[in-house]
Amino acid sequence: MARYTLECVECGRSFSDDTLLKCPECGGLLEVSLDYDEIEVDRETLERRDLGVWTFRELLPVSTDDPVTMGEGGTGLHPCPRLAEELGVRSLYVKNEGENPTGSFKDRGMTVGVTKAVELGAEVVACASTGNTSASLAAYAARAGITCAVLLPAGKVALGKLAQALFHGARVVPVDGNFDDALAVVRRLAEEGLVYLLNSVNPFRLCGQRTIAYEICLQMDWSVPDAVVVPVGNAGNISAIWQGFLDLYELGLIDDLPRMYGVQAEGARPVVDAIRSGKEDIDPDPEPETVATAIRIGNPVNAVKALRAIRSSGGWAVSVTDDEILEAQRELATTEGIFVEPASAASIAGLRKLVDRGEIDEGEEVVCVTTGHGLKDPEIVMETCELPEPVEPDPERIKERLGLG
Ligand SMILES: *Cc1c(COP(=O)(O)O)cnc(C)c1O
Ligand SMILES: [Zn+2]
Repeated sequence: MARYTLECVECGRSFSDDTLLKCPECGGLLEVSLDYDEIEVDRETLERRDLGVWTFRELLPVSTDDPVTMGEGGTGLHPCPRLAEELGVRSLYVKNEGENPTGSFKDRGMTVGVTKAVELGAEVVACASTGNTSASLAAYAARAGITCAVLLPAGKVALGKLAQALFHGARVVPVDGNFDDALAVVRRLAEEGLVYLLNSVNPFRLCGQRTIAYEICLQMDWSVPDAVVVPVGNAGNISAIWQGFLDLYELGLIDDLPRMYGVQAEGARPVVDAIRSGKEDIDPDPEPETVATAIRIGNPVNAVKALRAIRSSGGWAVSVTDDEILEAQRELATTEGIFVEPASAASIAGLRKLVDRGEIDEGEEVVCVTTGHGLKDPEIVMETCELPEPVEPDPERIKERLGLG
């Protein structure tokens, strides 16, 4: 088990009480700070294990040998030569998080977060969600045999995600408001001690998401890409991935660090605006709007950490339109066979923009993180596909339709 403290990202004080969800001194977010001197890992040991979140158990802040798991992580890092050529970069890999058990990277966080919840004796776990957090938490809570409560922005959750949350038996409450409104309520319930909160303010959950970086390094034989491009919603993931690279660097497992690039939708881009204007913090957007519902967030709670990650790594942030997102989604599906949901495609659309603007050089090696599976949101793709008319099972008619012979 990793030795660690919880460190406040605002005032820097350290705490050793795992039940804290914010700094008792200043209210700031807490982050797990690993005690690197106490951690013994080497490349060979890690390489010998099956790849997944728990490959990196020495770096995960839980004490049990019996985690709540479904084999999450171990997702493919797929070379995408055709798309790379199209976008104008030497080498492009897609880290496809849709391959996780419930179809998004949220499972990496939940296997660790729900394991911690059980360790702390929680009986009810809860989250606000744009969809995938609730799908994942509902599944892991079912597996742990505990109650799950989820608050969703009414009418703004993709069908597949809603189906998952309902079917795994979560108590689902649609809220008349957006994600940010729902999160404010569930934080309140957590403060009243009624639920254990598993949004990305939970520092243990984010440790699970650091494994995206750990896996990328292991899969690249301990070399490090020049740039990592990540869709940004509540901004926990980009912060966690950056921290993951820092962990490996501090442990001497890698010798370099990537530049981190955040991508937001044009209609929900507080982090992009803050990066452009050089501000320390974001101006929340009260009415975020985008087809990419998983990143339809106007007041990202992890914004300060994300801004630091982007700046200290030498990266940047860009926004992309809904049309650019949907086009990138189709391009990835048709040129590389990888079907992702719209929010995930923002990383591809963002890469195109970053290359066009010279932020990322054509000679560089890039990893785009695609965060969730395309089947989560079939409705959005069917809006742009024309359903073909049926024909009789007549070979001639069918050849004609297929444009063959
Ligand atoms: C949660 C989610 C995001 C946003 O991640 P943050 O950590 O909130 O920035 C992006 N894409 C998908 C598919 C997600 O489920
Ligand atoms: Zn503090």
